[in-house]
Amino acid sequence: MKEFQKKIDNMFGHRDKKRDFHKNFAWFVEEVGELSKAIRIDNRENEKEEFADVLAWLFSLANARNIDLEEVFLQKYHKFCSKCGNNPCKCIKY
Ligand SMILES: [Zn+2]
Repeated sequence: MKEFQKKIDNMFGHRDKKRDFHKNFAWFVEEVGELSKAIRIDNRENEKEEFADVLAWLFSLANARNIDLEEVFLQKYHKFCSKCGNNPCKCIKY
């Protein structure tokens, strides 16, 4: 995950960091919308591309905010569900 985040930074960071963060965030949300549509119309090929786009944008946003996604992901999801403390999760409502 760390390697991929760095790769996205090397590829797009110079461009994305010049743009307003909120505009980039809106683009991320737009990609989520495109993913939603691909799933809704059951376009598997487009769905795969949109998952990739959403993930790339998420990493780019994290880069702009100086957040190491691997670090925070592992802190929150590495061993146990952060709500019920179990693995697998035993939360009653989800
Ligand atoms: Zn749980």
